[in-house]
Amino acid sequence: MLILLVNTPTEAQIETVMARVREIGCKPHLIPGEHSIAIGITGNSQALDPGIFTSLDGVSEAIPVTKPFKLASHDFKHAKTEIHVGSVTFGPKHFVVIAGPCAVESEEQTVRIAKAVKAAGANVLRGGAFKPRTSPYAFQGLGLEGLKILKTAREQTGLPVVTEAVDIQSLELVNEYADIIQLGARNMQNFSLLQAAGRLRKPVMLKRGLSATVDEWLMAAEYILNEGNEQVILCERGIRSFDNFTRNTVDIGAVIGLQLQSHLPIIVDPSHGTGRRQMVIPMGKAALAVGANGVMVDVHDRPKEALCDGPQAILPSEFSEMVATLRKMAPATGAHLVGGLG
Ligand code: PEP
Ligand code: MN
Repeated sequence: MLILLVNTPTEAQIETVMARVREIGCKPHLIPGEHSIAIGITGNSQALDPGIFTSLDGVSEAIPVTKPFKLASHDFKHAKTEIHVGSVTFGPKHFVVIAGPCAVESEEQTVRIAKAVKAAGANVLRGGAFKPRTSPYAFQGLGLEGLKILKTAREQTGLPVVTEAVDIQSLELVNEYADIIQLGARNMQNFSLLQAAGRLRKPVMLKRGLSATVDEWLMAAEYILNEGNEQVILCERGIRSFDNFTRNTVDIGAVIGLQLQSHLPIIVDPSHGTGRRQMVIPMGKAALAVGANGVMVDVHDRPKEALCDGPQAILPSEFSEMVATLRKMAPATGAHLVGGLG
């Protein structure tokens, strides 16, 4: 349920409503709007009677919210969420470009690629230190050493860093070293991990599960938001389909569907989404065209030697062309910032 308060309610009126929500065993969420204040309620197992709240001083309306996701939905929060990471903004009218190797392989490799993507206009550096691999025999990432390398790359380029946490232990470390915590497709429904990330106060990039519906994905975001972390960025990274020409099927329509239902920023990962380097740039352009708030692409200067996902990595020179193209396209889409330069 969403409780709308009168214009400029008093502190006492707000506190009375908050207390009433707690009294009935639910959780109140204060939602400041442009002109007024609303209070969202979560934690009720059954529909609530609006009369409980409309009789209180300062309440103008109590609106039942029927969708299973509440905090992630537009019903609870109308204005789009803006997430600030240093000078980078995830949100409306911004198109953020995240790039870097799939995996941190060595300091030399990471710093070299970080400098190349920075020169080409990337806003954020990606690179996995903890790699969730299908095979236990595949390169699992450098772990803590990888995080330290990312820190060095950030110091040398000024780029903020996004990297994946795969469990509670790595979450603590990633929180210490990264600017954005990535939760990967395979962990999208690891609810205890989502809650632990929700207790942190750092932006979380939540990738879509391998076969997750948009509703399931938003419910996963809800787990993070419900713990009080409001900084969730969604990342469409393709879903399983019957076709195996591509690694996954990028659900470009989901970007539009999400923008209609949720205030959270959404970006697209065309690298994991397609698994084919020839498709990365066109899909990145598609992401901008449908109104995504950014892209995340794998870039490697020696893709044949890459320890992870070489076939989907584009070269720094291709990445540079991609950013140049996105910059040309941006004005037509209303996004005023691409590749850090606008
Ligand atoms: C990644 O971005 O490095 C990754 C492992 O992606 P996903 O979780 O989408 O497979
Ligand atoms: Mn990968």
